[in-house]
Amino acid sequence: MAGDDRTAEATELLQALIRNACVNDGSADSGHESKSVDLLAHYLDGAGLDVERYEPTPGRASLVARIEGSDRSAPTLMLMGHTDVVPVTPENWLHDPFGGELIDGEVWGRGAVDMLNLTATMAVATKQFGAEGFRPRGTLIYLAVADEEAAGTHGAEWLVEHQWDEMACDYVLTESGGMPVRTPDGIKRPIIVGEKGLFWFTLHVKGTPGHGSQPLRTDNALVKAAEIVNRLAAFRPPAHIHEIWRRFVEGMNFPLELSGPLLDPDRLYEFAEGLPMLGLARQAHACTHTTFAPTMATGGLKHNVIPDRVSIAVDGRTLPGQDRDDAMAMLDEILGPGSGGADLRDDVEVEVVVEDPASASPIDTPLWDALQRATEAVVPGSVNVPFMTVGGTDSRFFRRRGIPSYGYGLFSDRIGFDEFADMFHGDNERVDVESLRLTTELWDVVVRDLVG
Ligand SMILES: [Zn+2]
Repeated sequence: MAGDDRTAEATELLQALIRNACVNDGSADSGHESKSVDLLAHYLDGAGLDVERYEPTPGRASLVARIEGSDRSAPTLMLMGHTDVVPVTPENWLHDPFGGELIDGEVWGRGAVDMLNLTATMAVATKQFGAEGFRPRGTLIYLAVADEEAAGTHGAEWLVEHQWDEMACDYVLTESGGMPVRTPDGIKRPIIVGEKGLFWFTLHVKGTPGHGSQPLRTDNALVKAAEIVNRLAAFRPPAHIHEIWRRFVEGMNFPLELSGPLLDPDRLYEFAEGLPMLGLARQAHACTHTTFAPTMATGGLKHNVIPDRVSIAVDGRTLPGQDRDDAMAMLDEILGPGSGGADLRDDVEVEVVVEDPASASPIDTPLWDALQRATEAVVPGSVNVPFMTVGGTDSRFFRRRGIPSYGYGLFSDRIGFDEFADMFHGDNERVDVESLRLTTELWDVVVRDLVG
């Protein structure tokens, strides 16, 4: 198939995946990824691929397509894309978030960069391999997986636990990296080799009920919750310079006035606060700090009742090497007298909701080398640098089994690094067709290189 035809197919498939609106709000009966598995099964049909479908929870299917290799000693590569997306606030969008419209060379919609673009292009490349009768030495697996945007309970976690024979591989490629970063030293593209851990918890703040007409000296759970929210926002744990962050900054060949503070744990926070490049500032902070973001608050009974209970949801993200004890010690500091304020520890009950430690793959692997060669072949002159994502991805389930798992794709220079970062789970998510062309080409080259 010619490159133009592949790009057209990838574009149409992406539009259809966006229109399926597999919105995962974290509840078991959301997602409905089976719709997109039906779509992909139909798309891949007739290409001579071995296709399986797994549906551990009704409506939450995942699809596996494989091309078995001829040489058992040759490596197995998995291309893994998720089919679910996060919810939207439609009124903030310029176009229908589930319209999948193609406007001025860009496909608009939730999932356009996270990560239906990759899920679609991986499917197109896999179908082409099947259709052309590709008989590789190693094995190629395509996995379209459900429930990445929550905890993977109905997707990758379940598959790795219950269908390991089908999942076993030597390398995984998934989201998200490869956007061009322009530097005086040329174009650099991040490969995601590690990710922060999840430590999501809810703080149940206790108070004493009373009449809202007489607030003096009452024990108001909402007032205490407000204080806690402010402490969470102001919390400043020490910076840690992990090897991935160090090699990223070094690989970027930033000027010394940038690389100096970005690698100095004593200066990094203030530097990021003042850095005009907002995307880089947020990344620099998140890649080197444990973070606690208050994201939801619920509570109160009635307009005229002093509330006795308010709950605060907190999205905590830990660094590689940190465990529950480290996170709890920081929380103790926030709630306790160490904060400089009142000791609120007895007023709060901590409920840990999701706990998933950080994960990191080695940087120097045959997969790294193959990606650099493929990058050079498709977009000559750009150099890859390792990077740590601050979001959680399904890579972690594979990294824990010792399998190097990287996030990568190829993007044109139409959408910059900062804009790309803002679109993840943000408004006006979109991807240009040229990026779909480059990424489809990338999978073609890297598969032939690594397993062909
Ligand atoms: Zn994603």
